[in-house]
Amino acid sequence: MIDLIASPSEPRLADVFHRPITYLRISVTDRCNLRCVYCMPEAGLPWISKAEILSYEEIARIVGAAAKIGVRAIRLTGGEPLIRQDLERLVAMIAAIPGIDDIALSTNGLLLAEQAQRLRDAGLTRVNVSLDTLREDRFVAIARRPGLDRVLAGIEAASAAGLGPIKLNCVVMRGQNDDEVEAFADLTRTRELAVRFIEVMPVAENVEGHASEYVGAGEILDRIGAIAELRPVSGPLGNGPARYYAFDGARGTVGVISPLSHDYCDTCNRVRLSADGRLKLCLFGDHFIDLRTPVRAGAADDELIAIFRGSMYVKPERHHLDVGQTASAMRALSEIGG
Ligand code: SAM
Repeated sequence: MIDLIASPSEPRLADVFHRPITYLRISVTDRCNLRCVYCMPEAGLPWISKAEILSYEEIARIVGAAAKIGVRAIRLTGGEPLIRQDLERLVAMIAAIPGIDDIALSTNGLLLAEQAQRLRDAGLTRVNVSLDTLREDRFVAIARRPGLDRVLAGIEAASAAGLGPIKLNCVVMRGQNDDEVEAFADLTRTRELAVRFIEVMPVAENVEGHASEYVGAGEILDRIGAIAELRPVSGPLGNGPARYYAFDGARGTVGVISPLSHDYCDTCNRVRLSADGRLKLCLFGDHFIDLRTPVRAGAADDELIAIFRGSMYVKPERHHLDVGQTASAMRALSEIGG
């Protein structure tokens, strides 16, 4: 197929290990309306000031330059992206950029019911909802705020708006919600959901309890496989590292995301943009390049493209994260959009 977007004079972005970079995850805010125990302290974090946060126009400028060198897929994340005003305005701006063909959202779902349809109308293609428990008492214990009903309503609204199949992301913690793995997996028999179990990652907030809470993907799959036979499947459309399985006759799929037990750096296709405009080259390292300063100084696309290309020399080959270690200087995934 002829590629009309990336011209021969603009070769596609790839890092020094020859991995094509086609996926940009954008944190639109570092703030959140939940305080999940594995992510953020109850009092919150020192938030980035409003003046430091990229405007929608600045984000669109960066996406426009990235699209010229082969970035195709965008994910909006945070913090909680739905607490930023008029997010559909940003979605519409990104949807209008030639070359971008997938705009996904990661949300905790609390504000999804009221926004799903207008996000879809603006051009959003898919939604991931984070949900760690199906019990309200545990929801309050893990997220430190009430809201399970609103999240479930958000999932229904997103399905009704055509944002499915929805991926449900569940962080599994021993002694907190690991006994719900089977109930989550069971949802996939009757619902067109991709339920994905995520190994809890060590960040400053949970580093002390991390080792005792950690449940590896192998153990999760063994437990689900004990309900009924699971067969490997290709899974729903996506840009990520999940491995998918399904029960016989099920409408949905079960997936595992295993950053610790199963390193998938070989196929890394992504970079991240923090809410304050830093390009982050690896989720688990301190490799940042500032994009906000050049954007605010009026840099042309060529200059932004040169910065993207230069950043590829900084992108590490792999992370060196092990159980019991923190992920660098990052205090929480909310800072760079998990
Ligand atoms: N607020 C949005 C949401 O809830 O999806 C987007 C940001 S949130 C930081 C992105 C994802 O990171 C969520 O699924 C959350 O559960 C996950 N996450 C945060 N801290 C984590 C940790 N220490 N280990 C594993 N997953 C984590």
